[in-house]
Amino acid sequence: MAHGTDSERIDRERTGREARARADRRDAAVRAVVGQGLLHPDAPVVGLLDVTGIRESAAALRAAFDAVTAPGTPVLHAFAVKACPLVPVLRLLREAGIGAEVASPGELALARAAGLAPEHTVLDSPAKTPAELREALASGIAVNADNPQELDRLDALVRSGPPRSPLGLRVNPQIGGGSIGATSTATPTSKFGVALRDPGAREWVVRAYAERPWLTRLHTHTGSQGVPLELMARGVAEAYALAEEINAAAGRRQIDTLDIGGGLPVDFGAEADSPTYAEYARLLAGRVPGLFDGRYGLVTEFGRSLLARHGTVVARVEYAKRSGGRRIAVTHAGVQVATRTVYAPGAWPLRIAAYDAEGRPKSGPAEVQDVAGPACFSGDLLAEGRSLPPLEQGDHAAALDTGAYYFAHHYAYNSLARPGVYGFGPDGTGGVAFAAVREPQTVAEIVAESGGAHAEALTTLNAPARP
Ligand SMILES: *Cc1c(COP(=O)(O)O)cnc(C)c1O
Repeated sequence: MAHGTDSERIDRERTGREARARADRRDAAVRAVVGQGLLHPDAPVVGLLDVTGIRESAAALRAAFDAVTAPGTPVLHAFAVKACPLVPVLRLLREAGIGAEVASPGELALARAAGLAPEHTVLDSPAKTPAELREALASGIAVNADNPQELDRLDALVRSGPPRSPLGLRVNPQIGGGSIGATSTATPTSKFGVALRDPGAREWVVRAYAERPWLTRLHTHTGSQGVPLELMARGVAEAYALAEEINAAAGRRQIDTLDIGGGLPVDFGAEADSPTYAEYARLLAGRVPGLFDGRYGLVTEFGRSLLARHGTVVARVEYAKRSGGRRIAVTHAGVQVATRTVYAPGAWPLRIAAYDAEGRPKSGPAEVQDVAGPACFSGDLLAEGRSLPPLEQGDHAAALDTGAYYFAHHYAYNSLARPGVYGFGPDGTGGVAFAAVREPQTVAEIVAESGGAHAEALTTLNAPARP
């Protein structure tokens, strides 16, 4: 990537300013969530969402692609709902001009509940049922088929009536993975899409389009956290080259839209965004200029990069103790809200911030400590051996950058309750206003979800027949 141009310098300065403002808003929100009593000894963990920050990221995404696409190019940014499956978040994004990428009946229902229109919704998933496909085609939602068998199902549906939906095929350019196996989608044996470099696959894809004039989109999602930008750009370039080949074979612009997926990585080690949407869009425009000259509509599917920065888990320190000389803060945030980090701490480290009992940032000399969660296994640690101002009983620990794939993805270990999630923004008089996004789960709800209505189900199953 070229460095040092004016626009890049201006971008970096803006990114730095935004990061500092975001940290200030977060500090104010932690202070206020304690002060206003949303976080208290009986509700000892909450998820916070920064509404201002979410709007800023949505605007940055749109501006980044606007800056590199020919005027009039249709661009749909479809937020990957799996990154933050909360209806008010989808609604906020909708207001900011962002659509939805869904991958299950549940996610589609969330998008609909948020008011997303079918033309702003894209259905991807490796395991769509016939009913899901039928419903999507009846409502006009865009569908990307994952594999030849799914294409057979689409054939049958299309025969029974012209589709209202734009239809595409997902390909895997098999360009290789990044540093995290679980989020590398373009490896040679990835489960996603048609593997383009397998023997005969490319020819099969070109023929599949030639035989199906209604197949007008091409989809690839070549990376996620841990995948370098250059590799992602190569995946997009491969998809573009394939689209050109298909259109040349068809003798017309059969493929009118490329869906380039999401996957911009987030730097969990620092406050400022790097890479930015603007950097990625410029890199793509440099590597694949034909994609932006107005001949193709574009769909993107960013998830983590839109939301991660804007979420914070805040948890009370229930106890501070020592073990084997190690200082340990036992908090209420662990595997239930930070599942990836707890199970794979090397791949998913989180920054932790220390706040006092009133929610003010703690300062003073740092000490090496573990920040532990409430679950009953020894690996339930948000951070191990981290240098932080000592966390004392009644203080608060915050896990930063947890707006995507963290507290919205509850893991019910130890029947720990889903924490309340609150959005925050300025209250107009210099303070912080909160809005409930998701109520905290009650223990009655936990019992109900855990078969509470069926207490006798097993004891009566094989009850001896009564004479
Ligand atoms: C998960 C996913 C995304 C979003 O990925 P992020 O890394 O969160 O940006 C986009 N498209 C598809 C098909 C996905 O599976």
